Amino acid sequence: ISRKWRVNPTRIDLGDGVVIGEGSLSLMAGPCSIESEAQIESVVAHLRKNNVKIMRGGVFKPRSSPYAFRGMGMDGLKMFHRICRENDIKVITEVMQVSQIEEMIDYVDVFQVGARNSQNFNLLDSLGESQKPVLLKRGISGTLEELLQAAEYIFSHGNEKIMLCERGIRSYENAYRNVLDLNAVPVLKEKTHLPVIVDPSHGIGLRDYVEQMSLAAVMAGADGVIYETHQTPEKAFSDAQQTVDFRESERMIQRMRQAFELR
Ligand code: PEP
Ligand code: MN
Repeated sequence: ISRKWRVNPTRIDLGDGVVIGEGSLSLMAGPCSIESEAQIESVVAHLRKNNVKIMRGGVFKPRSSPYAFRGMGMDGLKMFHRICRENDIKVITEVMQVSQIEEMIDYVDVFQVGARNSQNFNLLDSLGESQKPVLLKRGISGTLEELLQAAEYIFSHGNEKIMLCERGIRSYENAYRNVLDLNAVPVLKEKTHLPVIVDPSHGIGLRDYVEQMSLAAVMAGADGVIYETHQTPEKAFSDAQQTVDFRESERMIQRMRQAFELR
Protein backbone atom coordinates (compact mmCIF):
# COMPACT_ATOMS: atom_id res chain seq x y z
CA ILE A 1 0.00 0.00 0.00
CA SER A 2 3.08 2.21 -0.10
CA ARG A 3 3.36 5.22 -2.39
CA LYS A 4 6.73 3.83 -3.35
CA TRP A 5 4.99 0.86 -4.89
CA ARG A 6 2.13 2.76 -6.49
CA VAL A 7 2.22 6.49 -7.10
CA ASN A 8 -1.32 7.00 -8.38
CA PRO A 9 -3.95 7.40 -5.68
CA THR A 10 -6.41 4.54 -5.26
CA ARG A 11 -10.00 5.42 -6.02
CA ILE A 12 -12.78 3.16 -4.82
CA ASP A 13 -15.84 2.85 -7.03
CA LEU A 14 -18.99 1.91 -5.09
CA GLY A 15 -21.11 2.04 -8.25
CA ASP A 16 -23.83 4.47 -9.38
CA GLY A 17 -21.28 7.27 -9.63
CA VAL A 18 -20.14 7.07 -6.01
CA VAL A 19 -16.33 7.11 -6.04
CA ILE A 20 -14.08 7.59 -3.01
CA GLY A 21 -10.58 8.99 -3.29
CA GLU A 22 -8.43 11.88 -4.34
CA GLY A 23 -10.18 14.66 -6.22
CA SER A 24 -13.45 14.42 -4.30
CA LEU A 25 -14.74 14.80 -0.77
CA SER A 26 -16.72 11.74 0.34
CA LEU A 27 -19.20 12.38 3.11
CA MET A 28 -20.61 9.50 5.15
CA ALA A 29 -23.12 10.30 7.87
CA GLY A 30 -25.69 8.60 10.05
CA PRO A 31 -26.37 7.38 13.54
CA CYS A 32 -23.93 5.49 15.69
CA SER A 33 -26.48 2.66 15.85
CA ILE A 34 -29.35 1.64 13.62
CA GLU A 35 -32.40 1.84 15.90
CA SER A 36 -35.66 1.58 13.91
CA GLU A 37 -37.25 1.95 10.49
CA ALA A 38 -38.45 5.47 11.33
CA GLN A 39 -34.96 6.46 12.41
CA ILE A 40 -33.37 5.16 9.19
CA GLU A 41 -36.00 6.98 7.12
CA SER A 42 -35.39 10.27 8.89
CA VAL A 43 -31.63 10.04 8.28
CA VAL A 44 -32.11 9.00 4.65
CA ALA A 45 -34.36 12.01 4.01
CA HIS A 46 -31.72 14.28 5.55
CA LEU A 47 -28.95 12.75 3.45
CA ARG A 48 -30.97 12.98 0.24
CA LYS A 49 -31.79 16.61 0.90
CA ASN A 50 -28.06 17.32 1.16
CA ASN A 51 -26.90 15.00 -1.61
CA VAL A 52 -24.88 12.75 0.72
CA LYS A 53 -24.51 9.33 -0.89
CA ILE A 54 -23.25 7.11 1.92
CA MET A 55 -25.01 6.34 5.20
CA ARG A 56 -23.25 4.93 8.25
CA GLY A 57 -24.97 3.00 11.03
CA GLY A 58 -23.89 0.15 13.29
CA VAL A 59 -25.90 -3.04 13.72
CA PHE A 60 -23.19 -4.96 15.56
CA LYS A 61 -21.86 -2.57 18.18
CA PRO A 62 -18.63 -2.94 20.14
CA ARG A 63 -19.70 -1.46 23.49
CA SER A 64 -17.46 -0.92 26.50
CA SER A 65 -20.17 -2.42 28.73
CA PRO A 66 -21.90 -5.68 27.79
CA TYR A 67 -25.11 -4.25 29.29
CA ALA A 68 -25.25 -1.35 26.81
CA PHE A 69 -27.26 -1.54 23.55
CA ARG A 70 -25.32 -3.86 21.26
CA GLY A 71 -27.16 -3.28 18.01
CA MET A 72 -30.09 -4.66 15.99
CA GLY A 73 -28.02 -7.29 14.21
CA MET A 74 -29.00 -8.77 10.85
CA ASP A 75 -32.66 -7.70 11.05
CA GLY A 76 -31.50 -4.12 11.43
CA LEU A 77 -28.98 -4.47 8.61
CA LYS A 78 -31.59 -5.85 6.17
CA MET A 79 -33.91 -2.94 6.94
CA PHE A 80 -31.04 -0.44 6.68
CA HIS A 81 -29.99 -1.88 3.32
CA ARG A 82 -33.53 -1.99 1.89
CA ILE A 83 -34.30 1.63 2.72
CA CYS A 84 -30.93 2.83 1.42
CA ARG A 85 -31.32 0.87 -1.83
CA GLU A 86 -34.74 2.45 -2.38
CA ASN A 87 -33.08 5.85 -2.02
CA ASP A 88 -29.80 5.39 -3.93
CA ILE A 89 -27.68 5.55 -0.80
CA LYS A 90 -24.71 3.30 -0.05
CA VAL A 91 -24.37 1.43 3.25
CA ILE A 92 -21.34 1.39 5.53
CA THR A 93 -21.52 -0.68 8.72
CA GLU A 94 -19.15 -2.38 11.12
CA VAL A 95 -18.30 -6.07 10.93
CA MET A 96 -16.91 -7.45 14.17
CA GLN A 97 -15.96 -11.02 13.41
CA VAL A 98 -15.11 -13.37 10.56
CA SER A 99 -18.32 -15.38 10.91
CA GLN A 100 -20.45 -12.28 10.17
CA ILE A 101 -18.88 -11.51 6.79
CA GLU A 102 -20.83 -14.06 4.80
CA GLU A 103 -24.26 -13.15 6.19
CA MET A 104 -23.61 -9.42 5.92
CA ILE A 105 -21.91 -9.20 2.56
CA ASP A 106 -24.98 -8.84 0.32
CA TYR A 107 -26.35 -6.00 2.46
CA VAL A 108 -23.22 -3.88 2.72
CA ASP A 109 -21.36 -1.54 0.35
CA VAL A 110 -18.42 -0.86 2.68
CA PHE A 111 -17.38 -2.96 5.67
CA GLN A 112 -16.13 -0.86 8.58
CA VAL A 113 -13.44 -2.33 10.81
CA GLY A 114 -13.68 -0.61 14.17
CA ALA A 115 -10.83 0.71 16.24
CA ARG A 116 -11.04 -2.25 18.62
CA ASN A 117 -10.64 -4.69 15.74
CA SER A 118 -7.94 -2.76 13.93
CA GLN A 119 -5.43 -5.54 14.56
CA ASN A 120 -7.79 -8.51 14.38
CA PHE A 121 -5.63 -10.17 11.77
CA ASN A 122 -8.01 -13.05 11.09
CA LEU A 123 -10.78 -10.55 10.33
CA LEU A 124 -8.44 -8.54 8.08
CA ASP A 125 -7.38 -11.69 6.20
CA SER A 126 -11.00 -12.65 5.59
CA LEU A 127 -11.96 -9.14 4.47
CA GLY A 128 -9.04 -9.28 2.06
CA GLU A 129 -10.51 -12.42 0.56
CA SER A 130 -14.02 -10.90 0.41
CA GLN A 131 -13.13 -8.20 -2.17
CA LYS A 132 -15.68 -5.79 -0.56
CA PRO A 133 -14.52 -2.20 0.09
CA VAL A 134 -13.25 -1.74 3.65
CA LEU A 135 -12.94 1.32 5.88
CA LEU A 136 -10.20 0.43 8.36
CA LYS A 137 -10.05 2.49 11.53
CA ARG A 138 -6.91 3.25 13.44
CA GLY A 139 -6.60 1.38 16.73
CA ILE A 140 -7.39 3.18 19.98
CA SER A 141 -3.67 3.35 20.73
CA GLY A 142 -2.47 2.36 17.30
CA THR A 143 0.50 3.89 15.55
CA LEU A 144 0.31 4.87 11.90
CA GLU A 145 2.74 2.10 11.08
CA GLU A 146 0.40 -0.42 12.74
CA LEU A 147 -2.53 0.97 10.75
CA LEU A 148 -0.58 0.66 7.51
CA GLN A 149 0.47 -2.89 8.32
CA ALA A 150 -3.12 -3.78 9.16
CA ALA A 151 -4.20 -2.44 5.77
CA GLU A 152 -1.48 -4.56 4.19
CA TYR A 153 -3.22 -7.67 5.57
CA ILE A 154 -6.30 -6.82 3.50
CA PHE A 155 -4.39 -5.63 0.45
CA SER A 156 -2.12 -8.66 0.29
CA HIS A 157 -5.12 -10.90 -0.46
CA GLY A 158 -5.85 -8.82 -3.55
CA ASN A 159 -8.53 -6.57 -2.07
CA GLU A 160 -7.23 -3.10 -2.93
CA LYS A 161 -10.48 -1.28 -2.00
CA ILE A 162 -9.33 0.02 1.36
CA MET A 163 -9.68 3.42 3.02
CA LEU A 164 -7.90 4.35 6.21
CA CYS A 165 -9.71 6.20 8.98
CA GLU A 166 -8.28 8.45 11.67
CA ARG A 167 -10.76 8.37 14.59
CA GLY A 168 -8.75 9.75 17.48
CA ILE A 169 -6.25 8.13 19.77
CA ARG A 170 -6.21 7.74 23.52
CA SER A 171 -4.02 10.11 25.50
CA TYR A 172 -3.71 11.44 29.06
CA GLU A 173 -6.06 14.30 28.21
CA ASN A 174 -9.57 13.78 29.58
CA ALA A 175 -11.28 17.02 28.56
CA TYR A 176 -12.61 15.13 25.54
CA ARG A 177 -13.07 11.50 24.53
CA ASN A 178 -10.05 11.04 22.25
CA VAL A 179 -7.39 13.18 20.59
CA LEU A 180 -8.15 13.51 16.89
CA ASP A 181 -4.71 13.18 15.36
CA LEU A 182 -4.95 15.29 12.22
CA ASN A 183 -1.19 14.99 11.80
CA ALA A 184 -2.06 11.54 10.52
CA VAL A 185 -3.77 12.91 7.42
CA PRO A 186 -0.82 14.48 5.55
CA VAL A 187 1.54 11.80 6.83
CA LEU A 188 -0.66 8.92 5.69
CA LYS A 189 -1.34 10.67 2.37
CA GLU A 190 2.37 10.75 1.75
CA LYS A 191 3.04 7.18 2.86
CA THR A 192 0.19 5.45 1.05
CA HIS A 193 -1.91 5.74 -2.09
CA LEU A 194 -5.06 4.73 -0.16
CA PRO A 195 -7.83 7.28 0.60
CA VAL A 196 -7.76 8.79 4.09
CA ILE A 197 -11.04 9.45 5.90
CA VAL A 198 -11.48 11.31 9.22
CA ASP A 199 -14.07 10.60 11.93
CA PRO A 200 -14.39 13.78 14.01
CA SER A 201 -17.30 12.35 16.07
CA HIS A 202 -15.25 9.66 17.80
CA GLY A 203 -12.19 11.87 17.43
CA ILE A 204 -13.37 14.48 19.92
CA GLY A 205 -16.49 12.88 21.32
CA LEU A 206 -18.38 16.13 22.03
CA ARG A 207 -21.02 17.34 19.57
CA ASP A 208 -20.28 21.04 20.00
CA TYR A 209 -16.82 20.61 18.48
CA VAL A 210 -17.51 18.09 15.73
CA GLU A 211 -18.02 20.77 13.09
CA GLN A 212 -14.72 22.55 13.80
CA MET A 213 -12.80 19.28 13.65
CA SER A 214 -14.58 18.20 10.46
CA LEU A 215 -13.48 21.43 8.79
CA ALA A 216 -9.95 21.01 10.09
CA ALA A 217 -9.94 17.49 8.65
CA VAL A 218 -10.94 18.74 5.22
CA MET A 219 -8.25 21.42 5.27
CA ALA A 220 -5.68 18.84 6.41
CA GLY A 221 -6.32 16.98 3.16
CA ALA A 222 -8.80 14.24 4.07
CA ASP A 223 -10.51 12.44 1.18
CA GLY A 224 -13.67 12.13 3.23
CA VAL A 225 -15.35 12.60 6.58
CA ILE A 226 -17.52 10.10 8.46
CA TYR A 227 -19.63 11.42 11.33
CA GLU A 228 -22.63 10.69 13.54
CA THR A 229 -25.99 12.42 13.10
CA HIS A 230 -29.51 11.70 14.39
CA GLN A 231 -32.87 13.49 14.35
CA THR A 232 -32.87 13.72 18.17
CA PRO A 233 -29.25 13.17 19.22
CA GLU A 234 -29.95 13.26 22.95
CA LYS A 235 -32.18 10.19 22.47
CA ALA A 236 -29.64 8.20 20.43
CA PHE A 237 -29.09 4.64 21.71
CA SER A 238 -25.29 5.07 21.57
CA ASP A 239 -22.75 7.91 21.37
CA ALA A 240 -25.48 10.53 21.98
CA GLN A 241 -23.02 13.07 23.39
CA GLN A 242 -21.03 13.24 20.14
CA THR A 243 -23.98 13.09 17.71
CA VAL A 244 -25.08 16.24 15.86
CA ASP A 245 -28.68 17.02 14.85
CA PHE A 246 -29.75 17.52 11.23
CA ARG A 247 -29.53 21.30 11.39
CA GLU A 248 -25.92 21.10 12.58
CA SER A 249 -25.21 18.33 10.08
CA GLU A 250 -26.55 20.41 7.19
CA ARG A 251 -24.35 23.34 8.12
CA MET A 252 -21.35 21.01 8.44
CA ILE A 253 -21.98 19.56 5.00
CA GLN A 254 -22.19 22.98 3.40
CA ARG A 255 -19.08 24.25 5.16
CA MET A 256 -17.04 21.10 4.47
CA ARG A 257 -17.86 21.43 0.78
CA GLN A 258 -16.84 25.09 0.83
CA ALA A 259 -13.60 24.20 2.63
CA PHE A 260 -12.88 21.49 0.06
CA GLU A 261 -13.21 24.06 -2.73
CA LEU A 262 -10.58 26.21 -1.00
CA ARG A 263 -7.99 23.41 -0.97
C1 PEP B 1 -18.46 3.65 15.48
O1 PEP B 1 -18.17 4.02 14.34
O2 PEP B 1 -19.61 3.82 15.98
C2 PEP B 1 -17.39 3.06 16.31
C3 PEP B 1 -17.65 2.16 17.25
O3 PEP B 1 -16.18 3.56 16.00
P1 PEP B 1 -14.72 3.21 16.61
O4 PEP B 1 -14.45 1.81 16.23
O5 PEP B 1 -13.84 4.20 15.94
O6 PEP B 1 -14.80 3.41 18.11
MN1 MN C 1 -20.26 5.53 17.56
